[in-house]
Amino acid sequence: MSDSTTHFGYRDVAVQDKQALVGEVFTSVAGNYDLMNDLMSLGIHRLWKRHFVSTLRLRPGMDILDLAGGTGDIAALMAPKLGDTGHIVLGDINAAMLSVGRDRLLDRGRANRVTVAQMNAEALPFPDQSLDRITMAFGLRNVTHKEKALAEMARVLRPGGMTAILEFSQVRPELLRPFYDWYSFNVLPRLGARFAGDPDSYQYLAESIRKHPNQESLKEMMVDAGLEMVGYRNLTMGICAIHEGFRT
Ligand code: SAM
Repeated sequence: MSDSTTHFGYRDVAVQDKQALVGEVFTSVAGNYDLMNDLMSLGIHRLWKRHFVSTLRLRPGMDILDLAGGTGDIAALMAPKLGDTGHIVLGDINAAMLSVGRDRLLDRGRANRVTVAQMNAEALPFPDQSLDRITMAFGLRNVTHKEKALAEMARVLRPGGMTAILEFSQVRPELLRPFYDWYSFNVLPRLGARFAGDPDSYQYLAESIRKHPNQESLKEMMVDAGLEMVGYRNLTMGICAIHEGFRT
């Protein structure tokens, strides 16, 4: 891969094309995104997300960005923990995902503490040191310049603030990998074809997980971006991991 190319799943594409290709994926899947998450993970993504939010040490009054927040699952789980003064921005680059997200927050009665805003993780529209928490669930994998996004998170965190990233990672027991690969490359695209009429987006999902930095590499990237006290914990044998990084 040269400096002018990057990966989009297993394909090498021009760096400047990746964002639009990712955009096509999420515009295509937005309407079926939540149903597909339940089908693909047998509902387990809900447990991962609940656990993730329970680790954030949220307090009333906090200012929070749920980055790449898509259809708003994480924002909806955080909202009741912020009291009358806390505030969440549900930020995402994709208008179709945000539109589903805004509707779902309204339906769940969680919209009053949440502002919906379109933004690119690589250039966050916030002043330096203005946020207490940044959450990013299953989003970083899709960003073209991950190091830029991580540096932006470090820039906008207040001292004492924390970035928490929930993302697919590397399955730890090597014995499990063949089964996980079989499931990812056979079952996911078929579910995508059957329930979303879109096998390609779910093929991209399986490929993008394999191209994403593993636990240790992501930890190093977070340190290089200026985050401090960086650590991670695996969920479900490393299918996912939660990485945390702080500003002191
Ligand atoms: N966080 C949600 C969840 O856990 O269900 C949505 C995750 S979805 C797999 C990934 C999201 O990342 C999509 O909504 C996509 O639009 C968003 N995304 C991709 N690239 C982005 C970028 N550069 N900046 C902000 N959001 C981005």
